[in-house]
Amino acid sequence: MPIIDGIVRFKKEDFERDKEFFQGLKEGQKPHTFYVGCSDSRVVPNLITKTLPGELFVVRNIANVVPPADRNEGTLKCTASILEYAVKYLEVKNIVICGHSNCGGLKALFYPKEKLEKLPMVNRWLDLIKDLKEKVDDIEDIALREWEIEQLNVVRQIENLLTYDFVKERFESGELKIYGWYYIIESGEVYNYNLEIKEFELINGEEF
Ligand SMILES: [Zn+2]
Repeated sequence: MPIIDGIVRFKKEDFERDKEFFQGLKEGQKPHTFYVGCSDSRVVPNLITKTLPGELFVVRNIANVVPPADRNEGTLKCTASILEYAVKYLEVKNIVICGHSNCGGLKALFYPKEKLEKLPMVNRWLDLIKDLKEKVDDIEDIALREWEIEQLNVVRQIENLLTYDFVKERFESGELKIYGWYYIIESGEVYNYNLEIKEFELINGEEF
């Protein structure tokens, strides 16, 4: 089984090679960034950001959603509790919302009703972002519509983050930075949402 072999090889090869580093992690964590990503297996946070264990505090869910503070009931509390821990306890300096192209979670919004009813829990989760559909309904080209809704979703999650007082206060005082990213699977490029001009710009190392 590949993942079991992976565990054995990690210990034998990677861990042993960087033993001092891995052992040092036992002292505790001080991640600089809280990363909210999609559960999609193709978008791997540490891989695309070239970060090491201890740097990113991560939550991944369907379509990289942060439930807004006023809809944070029942099972939706899970993501919000991780956000609270990251910001108030770990005192991360950055929050990244990372959406991506070809997102199955956002595609699912367009499934026929019967198909979604077979996934009642997913359906309930997607209720949080269902209204985004109306914003792209007039786009006929399906590929363009997908890109548009995936990017709108990133912006929506930034807005949702700011519905939490403890995020808003730190963001406004400059203690906390918020980034909205859009990762393109087929090119490996990441676009960052510029909060001032309200557009996505390619991260190419010049500004970041
Ligand atoms: Zn996705």
